[in-house]
Amino acid sequence: MGAPRRRVTKTRGRDRRTNWKSKPTQLIACPKCGTLVLPHRRCQKCGNYKDKEVLI
Ligand SMILES: [Zn+2]
Repeated sequence: MGAPRRRVTKTRGRDRRTNWKSKPTQLIACPKCGTLVLPHRRCQKCGNYKDKEVLI
């Protein structure tokens, strides 16, 4: 069995992962009721999305 010739060192691995950090969840205000909702999602409170009421 051959041993791995090249291995990524602790620092190199960590260095690569420095910009892995995920951003905090984006919230947008509903144009109808002003509640903070996830973008590209229908508003949970008034069911509004893109000026239309979306029925479930
Ligand atoms: Zn709303």
